Amino acid sequence: MKLIVGNWKLNPSTLNDAVALASSISYSIGNESFDRMILLPPFIFLEELAKRFKQISWGAQDFFWESKGAYTGEVSLPMLKDIGVNWVLVGHSERRRIFGETDEMVNKKMKFALENNFKTIVAVGELNRGDYPEEIIQGFKKSVADADKSKLENLIIAYEPVWAIGTGESDDPARSNSIIGQLKTTAFKMFGEDSNKIKFLYGGSVNSQNSKSFLNQKNIDGALIGGASLISEEFASIVESLE
Ligand code: PEP
Repeated sequence: MKLIVGNWKLNPSTLNDAVALASSISYSIGNESFDRMILLPPFIFLEELAKRFKQISWGAQDFFWESKGAYTGEVSLPMLKDIGVNWVLVGHSERRRIFGETDEMVNKKMKFALENNFKTIVAVGELNRGDYPEEIIQGFKKSVADADKSKLENLIIAYEPVWAIGTGESDDPARSNSIIGQLKTTAFKMFGEDSNKIKFLYGGSVNSQNSKSFLNQKNIDGALIGGASLISEEFASIVESLE
């Protein structure tokens, strides 16, 4: 089953608006589509949204790699589990670039999330258009190194060329298909047959106009959507384009 993940980032500004957006998305998609859609709102809205919209899979945009302790400002996996959230995103390019998360930090979080049985989406991708695939592969290897082979059905990779995020300049679907094919080959070398359980998404300026051209690619198992996930008709139409 292909997946569509909506990353709301630091939006919207109020709980009322968050509830309105979730309601509007819920009304616009068919019942069978709830299984393949995951929404990642800001932490502060998660508990209320998860309570009100039980048919939606909710996830966090980040978390910390310790369960408790002296880590001011952080949110832990037990806290997320307690409010019924079992999806997390790790290593989004904004976390990496703006907040200084390294491949090593991403790797620590990824391992901790898998260990705690969370569905774990790890974002990887090159900074500049034209960077070599080898750089992308190295970043991927460092981010997912030593992942528990018995938990790979919970690992989802989002290949997101950073230059394509929020710019309106999506990648060429055939190129992303080919890069993801190379990532799948790399995953096979790292984890063997079990790597076939990992899903690989594309992210970067996907909208209702171009979503099918990505989702129809052989190696692409879904999409991570930023801007378009804040417009309910846009997002619902992407989810429905999986039919
Ligand atoms: C993202 O934030 O991961 C993303 C893909 O954003 P956008 O769809 O706006 O490019």
